[in-house]
Amino acid sequence: MERLCPVPIWKCNDCLNYKRLDEFNKSYTIPNRPVQYKCKKCEKKYRQKYVENIKIKNKNYLINNRGKILTYQQKWRYKNWDSYQEKRKKYRADNKKQISAQRHDYYLKNKEKISQSHKQWTRENKEKIRKQKQEYQFKHRKKYAENARRWRKNNPERERQNRQKYTKFRRQNDPQYALRVRLSDRLKSFLKHEKGGRTSESLIGYSMLEFKNHLEKAFIEGMSWEKFLAGKIDIHHIVPNAAFKYTTAEEKSFKLCWSLKNLCPEWREINRKLNDYLPDGTRAMNLTNKITTQEEFDYWYPRCLALRLAVRNE
Ligand SMILES: [Zn+2]
Repeated sequence: MERLCPVPIWKCNDCLNYKRLDEFNKSYTIPNRPVQYKCKKCEKKYRQKYVENIKIKNKNYLINNRGKILTYQQKWRYKNWDSYQEKRKKYRADNKKQISAQRHDYYLKNKEKISQSHKQWTRENKEKIRKQKQEYQFKHRKKYAENARRWRKNNPERERQNRQKYTKFRRQNDPQYALRVRLSDRLKSFLKHEKGGRTSESLIGYSMLEFKNHLEKAFIEGMSWEKFLAGKIDIHHIVPNAAFKYTTAEEKSFKLCWSLKNLCPEWREINRKLNDYLPDGTRAMNLTNKITTQEEFDYWYPRCLALRLAVRNE
């Protein structure tokens, strides 16, 4: 023991002087000695003399022990999570300008790299991005519908043009859409002239009169055929049309989609809000297993019915 008097006095092994406790850096590893072998002054001298060597040594240590250091830091952060977040918050608040300048600087220097990695990330996470977007749109569907409605109201001419262009394109390129339009057009013309052609009967398995009676029975308060012809009421598919895939009227998929059970009148506003959403928030157009069998239809039907009720009660 080198302690000589009640005020702790420790010997420096370098300059050989006896010094006070606070003139040393602490040590936790040297047995029976709470301070380092060298006093602070001598340590400083040593550091100054070998500043380059120490830098290299430290750097090498960091490189060679990266994993160890990172896990240690991580453990520390988890253990002290609240104070760590607190510190980070404070640091960010105190150094706002500096941080944003650093970021900007980094961005300018690495523009190409950043844009490349961003592009790559987008490419690799297409599915994830699509899903997120879908979920977001479903969550905010009210707002989306409201915005779309407002836009249509403010731009009636462009809305009409867009609709024409869109329907023309779909009619020419999408047999499913063409069939759908044909049926609802037929119903409209039937309602105007009250004479249903035999062709529709063979196409869908029921006559236009039966179709009309079915819809009329399902009218809710305030609905009328005048409003239907005025475009305020849509023919609503309880399981969305987009959940089916058909190119001809002979397919089971078509028959399920256009079965009377799956059809009802709905206010245009609500029909648009429902769009082709499925009860889990995804969209029917993205459904990978389109509905082709009765069992699949029976699975979706009650769920879609519930979604419709939920949206109507919103
Ligand atoms: Zn010393």
